[in-house]
Amino acid sequence: VLRARRLQKRYDDNIVLQHIDLDIVEGEVLCLIGPSGSGKSTLLRLLATLESPDSGVVFFHDTPLGIVERGGNLYTAPEKIIRQQRDRIGFVFQQFNLFPHLTVLQNVMLAPRLQGQRGKAEDKARALLERVGLAHKADAWPASLSGGQQQRVAIARALARDPALILFDEPTSALDPELVNEVLAVMTDLAATGITMVVATHEMQFARRVASNVAFLDKGHIVEYGSPQQVLDAPQQPRTRAFLQQIS
Ligand code: ATP
Ligand code: MG
Repeated sequence: VLRARRLQKRYDDNIVLQHIDLDIVEGEVLCLIGPSGSGKSTLLRLLATLESPDSGVVFFHDTPLGIVERGGNLYTAPEKIIRQQRDRIGFVFQQFNLFPHLTVLQNVMLAPRLQGQRGKAEDKARALLERVGLAHKADAWPASLSGGQQQRVAIARALARDPALILFDEPTSALDPELVNEVLAVMTDLAATGITMVVATHEMQFARRVASNVAFLDKGHIVEYGSPQQVLDAPQQPRTRAFLQQIS
């Protein structure tokens, strides 16, 4: 679904990501783990093309979402194609980022409405709210919901784009501990239905149960990559071991 090739990103002279190569295949759940400042959020923003890399390129299916060299020439895909592809990447943030002046239902309806299916948008939004267990909150204001409920609305909103994949940036780390599991349960259900997901997380139990692959990032490098059993239970790299010991 998504391929990153030699991604590099710096802010001023701080090199945040170096030569990241990553392949995300259909139905995969990739968990990104690593210390604070290792570049997880930056990588997700580049994959979502919310930001551009300094070098390297992200391919969505086979469309480069940036500049590539082809046969000695520089090539970019047509703007319209890039926009269409980009619209199929969902993003769920740590801070839920719901629109406070719109109801829950209206928040979820935004994306389908943008795609010009006005008539069906409401039915679809209600079905998505049902899927995250919040059909009864359709007419509520975001501020009246718990953090866990708000995050589930944000997930429904991401699903409303018919995303080819959803990127999650620490979706549970702004939540009170007793609200974490309801959000992880929704994400686990999504994974079971075959939705492709990339999840930056500190929830190692979730990674162990749900991830197809785990990537450990440190200082802008993917230091270790493999199945959860390999990376979490039998890490080969000293830096991975040190990180896992520190958080357990
Ligand atoms: P955390 O676990 O704390 O969320 P992270 O792994 O997501 O950390 P990033 O947010 O990607 O890490 O940050 C990586 C580095 O890039 C940090 O050194 C950070 O200070 C820097 N950085 C991130 N965004 C910007 C920005 N917009 N401008 C300048 N520096 C930035
Ligand atoms: Mg982050």
